[in-house]
Amino acid sequence: MYSYFMPTKLIAGTDCLKNNSSQMILGSRAVIITGKSSGKSSGALGEVQEILERENIPWSVYDRIENNPSLECVWEAGQFAKSQKADFVIGIGGGSPLDSAKAAAVYAANTIAPMDIFKGVYPVRPLPICAIPTTAGTGSEVTPYSILTLNREQTKKSFTSPECFPAVAFLDGRYNKNVPLQTARNTAVDAMSHCIEGYLNKKASPATDYIALEGLRILARHLKGLMDGALSVDDCTELLFAASLGGMVIAQTGTTIVHSMGYQLTYHKDIPHGMANGLLLGKFAMLCQGQQTQKVQRLLKALSLPSLKELCRTLASLLPCKTSFSPEELESYAKISIQAKNVESCPFPVTRELETEILKDCLLNR
Ligand code: NAP
Ligand code: FE
Repeated sequence: MYSYFMPTKLIAGTDCLKNNSSQMILGSRAVIITGKSSGKSSGALGEVQEILERENIPWSVYDRIENNPSLECVWEAGQFAKSQKADFVIGIGGGSPLDSAKAAAVYAANTIAPMDIFKGVYPVRPLPICAIPTTAGTGSEVTPYSILTLNREQTKKSFTSPECFPAVAFLDGRYNKNVPLQTARNTAVDAMSHCIEGYLNKKASPATDYIALEGLRILARHLKGLMDGALSVDDCTELLFAASLGGMVIAQTGTTIVHSMGYQLTYHKDIPHGMANGLLLGKFAMLCQGQQTQKVQRLLKALSLPSLKELCRTLASLLPCKTSFSPEELESYAKISIQAKNVESCPFPVTRELETEILKDCLLNR
């Protein structure tokens, strides 16, 4: 038995926002949640503001979302939205602003303590969310998750609620066309990681398998462009779509230890999210091979790669990471990451010792 639930309306293609502007209006007073530069540099913020002006919808902007947003940051964004009496949220940016838009939607609608957001059940329904991704990676525009940096636990932690799926998402390659090349690579690897972790997940279903393989096929078509930096607007829209497919997969299956161990690399060493996953992904796929031989072959075929070794080589060339680690650091990361819920979704048994071994294997012998 399996089920599939994804209530977000996806609208994709060049100029999709301008041509469907009424779909963006989810209330009578908007708050825009975005990063320091991504809203402006993508061009999406200007287009959104133009539509709101034209439609006579009052709006305000919170543009101080940090990368890997902390609980404190999203709390402030939520209090801002509340003070502005916003009744809908427009998130513009990469995963960080989109995840923050979800948190702000919860805090603006409710009077709860900051940590209560992790309960996933709220007295009042969160404000409706319009999501406009400007990176092609997290798929946050089609997931119910929001991942926050929790300094007191020295890690990143997610909350989830079916009420946090955005109501509508706009995918336009013009918005991610100008992301720095290394960010484009990191985020594409995040999308690949979602497809692979979802496909090899204990919670995988025929629906998510189908979507994951298609996501990988699209990503495979753009690996060369990601290496060379030669991506057209249409390529960028396709990459956004692949990222949404990855999001649709993990919205059902969740992620695995690749993500929970990756959070440690981001928290302690500031390694970007997608890169952190990519450093561990090849080894994870190798460990799945015993139980999931056929599936590993199918995912390699979808990626047009001959072997897992070649997958590791591809990831290494996309992700030049110079950060060094000590064995003691990696042991301390495993101590935290083993506590994550998604350990249970792995197709093989996971212990703290195994996580330490994976981290050492991937990060000490490069
Ligand atoms: P990000 O942290 O949102 O953005 C990375 C950098 O790219 C930022 O400096 C950002 O600038 C910049 N940027 C974004 N769009 C740009 C554009 N069009 N042009 C120029 N620069 C641009 O990175 P991300 O990888 O997309 O998101 C990572 C976050 O998402 C992590 O916190 C991760 O845990 C989370 N995540 C969530 C889910 C989910 O299901 N909700 C899944 C996976 C990951 P600004 O600083 O100006 O924004
Ligand atoms: Fe991710």
